[in-house]
Amino acid sequence: MRIIAIANQKGGVGKTTTTINLGAALAEQGKRVLLIDLDPQGNTSTGLGVAPGSRKATSYDLLLGEAIPEPQLLTVGGGNLWLIPANTDLASADIELHAHEKRSFLLHDALRGELLDRTRFDYVLIDCPPSLNLLTVNAMVAAHAVLVPLQAEFFALEGLSQLMMTIREVRLKANPGLRIEGVVLTMADMRNRLSQQVEADVRETLGDLVFRNVIPRNVRISEAPSYALTILDYDPASKGGQAYRALALEVLERHESGGQKEARA
Ligand code: ADP
Ligand code: MG
Repeated sequence: MRIIAIANQKGGVGKTTTTINLGAALAEQGKRVLLIDLDPQGNTSTGLGVAPGSRKATSYDLLLGEAIPEPQLLTVGGGNLWLIPANTDLASADIELHAHEKRSFLLHDALRGELLDRTRFDYVLIDCPPSLNLLTVNAMVAAHAVLVPLQAEFFALEGLSQLMMTIREVRLKANPGLRIEGVVLTMADMRNRLSQQVEADVRETLGDLVFRNVIPRNVRISEAPSYALTILDYDPASKGGQAYRALALEVLERHESGGQKEARA
């Protein structure tokens, strides 16, 4: 099992979209995938059609509840995609966590318990909030690796050093084995010179950390969640669908070749 935190403290860079569609593409490859919605906004849950009223066992319970919640099997993902949704309780969790003795380790402990033994997931993807708060720290402490979506725009690299500093701190204090899974460029417009320049800069700065596959800006990707579908169900042949499939294969290749890069920023 591999636990991947999908994190970037900037909002609107494609964390949720990547959690849903990379998860769906891994599920399509026959992997058993659990998505954990760790953003109080609950966009992953909504985007997959799990309405607030039907979110019984949530990520709040996973962190602070008495019993470990049962993941919900989704109708999308061919029987391979599960979700632990978020509800608005999670908005207060950051404060409650501060008062807790094991504040950074709650998700870690929950995910090492019987929940995951029972269901035997291959991948757990955690959709983080747009902040470097205790929720994101919990995800990083629980994870084997962090995957960073980076929007292909002028300020793409800004803020990245702060994210890397947080990762370094988590390694020092709690999770020495934490890797960087990779940086994925999102919403790229390859006909646009600025987008090309940003990609070149990011590759020059971050080298092999950057996935070869880039996610293009594609309106089909942004439409899919309003139908409660992943891009693979909504429009599998779209540029966006193909890109998330290719990214999933690259993620699998990075592990299964054992070629996990010594990605230590
Ligand atoms: P985050 O979770 O980082 O805040 P989202 O995944 O919610 O970001 O994406 C922000 C917005 O951009 C959403 O409206 C989403 O539908 C849209 N979006 C994300 N990726 C793409 C893409 N590749 N092409 C077009 N729209 C996208
Ligand atoms: Mg989001």
